[in-house]
Parts: sequence; C-alpha cells; structure tokens
Amino acid sequence: RFIALEGGEGAGKSTQARLLAEALRARGLEVITTREPGGTAGAEAIRSLLLNGVEGDTAGWGARAEALLFAAARADHVARLIRPALERGAWVVCDRYLDSSRAYQGGGGGVSDVDLLTLHAFGSEGLLPDLTLLVEVAAEEVVRRLALRDTEGSDRIGGREQAYHDRVAATFRALADADEARFARIDGNGTPEQIHARILAAIAPLCEG
Ligand code: C5P
Repeated sequence: RFIALEGGEGAGKSTQARLLAEALRARGLEVITTREPGGTAGAEAIRSLLLNGVEGDTAGWGARAEALLFAAARADHVARLIRPALERGAWVVCDRYLDSSRAYQGGGGGVSDVDLLTLHAFGSEGLLPDLTLLVEVAAEEVVRRLALRDTEGSDRIGGREQAYHDRVAATFRALADADEARFARIDGNGTPEQIHARILAAIAPLCEG
C-alpha cells in the first residue's frame, strides 16, 4: 500500500507521517517512511539543488526547470525505493509526492497539469498512491507554526510571495475535489494526536482491502 501526505508547509505532514508509520508497524506491517524531494541519495542531491540553489546564481530555478528537477528526483525515488518496497509487500508512507508538483510547480509556478502528468508518466511510469491524505490547516496557524520552525533553521524554497502559496492551497483543494476516490481531506487543526486519529480513520479502508 502506498500512502502520500500532501499539504502546504507547516501542515504537520512530517509528524503525521511518523505517527502513521508507527501505528502501522504496531500492527505488524513492514512500513517505510520517505519524503520528497529526496528519499534516495540521487534524489537528496537534487533536493539540495532545489532548496539551496547553485553558487553564483541568485535568480533561482525557473518553473520549468524546477518541474523537471522534481520529476527527476521522483523518478529515482520511485525506481529505487518506492516500487521495490511495494513489490515486496511493504507499506510506503511518503511525505509529499506528485500532487505537490501539481500544486507548487503547477498551481504556484504556472506549469500546466497536463505537462506535469506527462513528466510523471515518463519519469515514474505514472505510479500513483493508493491514498493521498491532504492535510489542511488554517492560514493563521501555518504562519504561527512556520515562525516557530524558522528559528530552528529553514528548509524551504524561499522567494515565493503569499499569492503563490494561496494558489498552491487552492490547487490542492481542487485536486482533492476532482478525485475523491484517491484523496482524503484531513483537518490539520488541533493537536498531533487529534490529527493522527483522523488519519487512522481515513486509512481504515486500506487496512481491510
Ligand atoms: O516538504 P518540505 O516542506 O520539506 O519541502 C521542502 C520545500 O520544497 C518547501 O519549500 C516546499 O514548498 C518545496 N516543494 C516544492 N514543490 C514540490 C515539493 C516541495 O516547491 N513539489
């Protein structure tokens, strides 16, 4: 089974990925947790190019180059980690996946969804999660959480205005509404334990099937 967690920065995805994996392991399942961009040595190297940029270049990546780098990182991640794990029957819990590209590089950056899906079809043979958990948090709460995180050291792609993040959030919502079979929208407000309980309820059907 393949579960992806999606949502904006500060939604609590990483914490929830960890809690979900622990809960599944407690049921005796083999679970790997991983993240995007990253998850393999090659994809982590691309993550560093994306997050830290390149020395001597202050402009940052353009939307198309960014989309290609994310697709390349995902291709390596899928081929070397995710697909082999699924083939041996393990559960994969992934912090961000294709829908982050559709929301950020697509909704935020203006790359067409058709182009992103074409890149995904080529790079990762179109592999989709069985379930995508969209964790949604009130905008004020995100500002509060990110302020806390930034004092601990930032791990974000900078230089994006608020309007970009608003388009990202709207795109995530539209993607979830357009594919209710693959998505579950999770209320990300509240304590980590409350959100975890909502996620366990959302994944219950996967455990039966
Ligand atoms: O998930 P995390 O917050 O660690 O992501 C690292 C950075 O990469 C964030 O700034 C996030 O917005 C960005 N990102 C992106 N497009 C993706 C995935 C992540 O811009 N497809």
